[in-house]
Amino acid sequence: MSEDLFVRVARVAAEHRASAGDRPVAGTASREDAWAAFDLPLPEDPTPADQVVDELLAAAEGHLVDSVGPRYFGFVVGGSTPAATAADLLAVGWDQNAFNPVLSPAAEAAERAAGGWVKDLLGLPGGASVGFVTGAQAANTVGIACGRHQVLEQAGHDVETEGLVGAPRLRVVTGSERHATIDRSLRLLGLGTTSLVPVLTDDHGTIDLADLEQVLGQEPHRPTIVCLQAGNVNTGGSDLFAQAVPLAKQAGAWVHVDGAFGLWAAAAAGRAHLVAGVEEADSWATDAHKWLNVPYDSGLAIVADPVVHGRSMAYSAAYLAGSGRDDFSLGDLVPDSSRRARGFAVWAALRELGRSGVEDLVERTCALAARMAARLADGGATIANDVVLNQVLVGFGDLSTTDEIVAEVQRDGTCWVGATTWHQQRLIRISVSNATTTGHDIDRSADAILAAAARVSAR
Ligand SMILES: *Cc1c(COP(=O)(O)O)cnc(C)c1O
Repeated sequence: MSEDLFVRVARVAAEHRASAGDRPVAGTASREDAWAAFDLPLPEDPTPADQVVDELLAAAEGHLVDSVGPRYFGFVVGGSTPAATAADLLAVGWDQNAFNPVLSPAAEAAERAAGGWVKDLLGLPGGASVGFVTGAQAANTVGIACGRHQVLEQAGHDVETEGLVGAPRLRVVTGSERHATIDRSLRLLGLGTTSLVPVLTDDHGTIDLADLEQVLGQEPHRPTIVCLQAGNVNTGGSDLFAQAVPLAKQAGAWVHVDGAFGLWAAAAAGRAHLVAGVEEADSWATDAHKWLNVPYDSGLAIVADPVVHGRSMAYSAAYLAGSGRDDFSLGDLVPDSSRRARGFAVWAALRELGRSGVEDLVERTCALAARMAARLADGGATIANDVVLNQVLVGFGDLSTTDEIVAEVQRDGTCWVGATTWHQQRLIRISVSNATTTGHDIDRSADAILAAAARVSAR
């Protein structure tokens, strides 16, 4: 009975994925319609599983967004490769708990192996530890928690035992175009956003090195974390790590890098120069669920010094008192206790793609982003960023109709794009990060965007 059910839902998922490019990308129904479909009374009594699945399928019908398909260019989301998706189905079907190796030796081994491959691909230190977290938000929190531990320990303060009571005020030096998740991580870690000391950034959101040096020199004795960025969510620009990391290190800072998608530039020979020197940082946050095309939720918190990582995050307080037990298990590297075995999907994606497949994925999507920019520019659009990676910022005319054009594109359904505000300008933001996108998808989508802009301007 339940076997038939699982086979059936796997088939539904497979058919949904296979046909994702053949439907209007965002569906047609509204959020209110979706709510009405799901807002059923809590049943008093059990319902057969088959019937529940029928109900779920009916409720979701028309209310899904085809971000898994080839013409979804909103936010930075990525799709999901076949092997990674199948592995995630197994992780759920096997119901493994990746809390520790007693609960699942397979889950732990998969994370250990996949973590090693990720470090290899990204050129990060082989001795670094890798925590499998929900996403870059969590990974930023872990990296900054490690920095908090380290710089306060150097100042003679044990933050795991004492909290921040009596601690010197630490500062977090970071670019003005940091991702908003950094601010939330600071709030969660008790540092608050007043600990932020912003550094000027240029037209591409890249940190100004002279200003970084000047800011670092202002309070040379204050415990300091420097947060750098690989891949600005609007422009795709990365900080100049080869210069910025040594400056921060000379100032005694912990260096954390938010590289949710941009860190993957390191995996492609033609793009690796964009993140040169990033391997000298102390901690890195990245996602598997964005550019690597692993299903949600899958992020990686990577820390050069596993002892600092474990001491900052370990589950058991016995670790925290410097007991000398530094044999941390994977559950000591994340903020979760029980969790899904996220490593299977990352392991499967990397087995499926291999080194050349990851490189090709990065290069191909960057080339497709450049193609989109060129087609739109030919059609009269202005491209507002240097398309160095997979992100494109697009404007038409005086930009006053950006939101109308975006709404028109979304209504048309050929592709999905969103709007963003970049340096006070309202722009269309396009991210090419799905492994299934082709040149034909780009051309069709560019035509749809240009046609939408023409319709709006004719109004
Ligand atoms: C997407 C993104 C994040 C947040 O990642 P999640 O996986 O959504 O938690 C952080 N930083 C940057 C630069 C991003 O692009």
